[in-house]
Amino acid sequence: MKCDIIKDLLPLYIEGLTSKDSNEEIEKHLESCEECRTFFQEMSGEIEEKLSVSTDIQELDYLKKVRKRNLRTVALTSGSVVVVLLILVSLFAFGFSVSSKDMDMTYQITDNRLEMDFQLKNGHDLTRRSIEPEFIYDDDQKVIGIEHRYKPVWVFNNPFDDVGTKFSLGIEIPNEEEQEQYTSTIIIEYSDKIVKFVNGKLVE
Ligand SMILES: [Zn+2]
Repeated sequence: MKCDIIKDLLPLYIEGLTSKDSNEEIEKHLESCEECRTFFQEMSGEIEEKLSVSTDIQELDYLKKVRKRNLRTVALTSGSVVVVLLILVSLFAFGFSVSSKDMDMTYQITDNRLEMDFQLKNGHDLTRRSIEPEFIYDDDQKVIGIEHRYKPVWVFNNPFDDVGTKFSLGIEIPNEEEQEQYTSTIIIEYSDKIVKFVNGKLVE
């Protein structure tokens, strides 16, 4: 084979694009022709350099892509974290009315106070609910009663509140003299029934 043809084929040969038959011819020629061999060595050095440079660029592109993908993953992940948090928060916000079957209620009277302890038994958490007393008036706008209402609510789990499964209530009971003026009522509103204390006595 002529040297010119060999030199034309060498770039393809170095990149491994020549056929098996051509490879044999080229290799046979390189063994016998020093000029082409030198040319081949110089050229393969240059081409390998070029190849490694382009590999570097490809690696850089790849790294950029990976970084972009990672950023996108982070964005997606934090997005879904927000969604999950919203779902959890809504679970805390919307509680369920407690059934009397799920609550252990004990009470005792000490120093004219009715002390009540509630223990939720369904494995979830109670939420704190403030109990504002409501005054009951007669037709002459005279106070004839104070009414406290407690409606126990449970949520799946409540990390923002330390109430847990227990809740306590203490209500003052008016003395005999005061009882002639007004009554003190506490109403526990369960989902299935109402428990009512009047002046410290369980009435229903
Ligand atoms: Zn040659």
